[in-house]
Amino acid sequence: MKNIVLFGPPGAGKGTQSERLIEKYKLIHLSTGDILRAERKAGTTLGKKANEYIEKGELVPDEVVIGMVANKINENLNAIGFIFDGFPRTTAQGEALDEMLNKLGHPITKMIALEVDEDELTKRLLLRGETSGRADDQDEATIRNRFKVYNNETLPLKDYYDAQGKYLGVNGMNRIETVFGDLCKILD
Ligand code: AMP
Repeated sequence: MKNIVLFGPPGAGKGTQSERLIEKYKLIHLSTGDILRAERKAGTTLGKKANEYIEKGELVPDEVVIGMVANKINENLNAIGFIFDGFPRTTAQGEALDEMLNKLGHPITKMIALEVDEDELTKRLLLRGETSGRADDQDEATIRNRFKVYNNETLPLKDYYDAQGKYLGVNGMNRIETVFGDLCKILD
């Protein structure tokens, strides 16, 4: 199994690159943001609860997302591998993911971070907000809070994976095609 964590701040291009990578490498795209938005759209209790956090740019509690990820992994045990997009976002999530994958005998292969500066991220998110309908991409205060949460709660995962010798950075400021090429070189 090839299990990749695609890491980076909101707007770094994780979703865009994941779409391309799953097509080329036949991996399963596991985006916790996508799952949460689908739950919200379906009007489930989980979706409604999660929306209270999403609309403020806060993180949904660990136990909720960890449970969702465990379900998705268990539904796809014969997969070639997973691209984890937007998960893990806290050290507790990283530890839970390691535990799940180690039990299966298929630990994380690499954690690849898309590196993009905050001015560019803000521009991209506001632009995406014009067409995505995502409220959390339309409000600058929410965007700023998402960066704050990312820096405080998510960024420590860089050291977490670095300590395992799994961290790699890619320049996410480049064109989509160039970034994709860089990711493919790593995955190949
Ligand atoms: P994303 O689509 O990855 O930008 O996620 C959108 C929102 O969903 C985030 O701002 C969080 O509120 C929530 N979310 C997505 N993934 C996670 C996660 N792994 N842990 C906690 N909250 C998450």
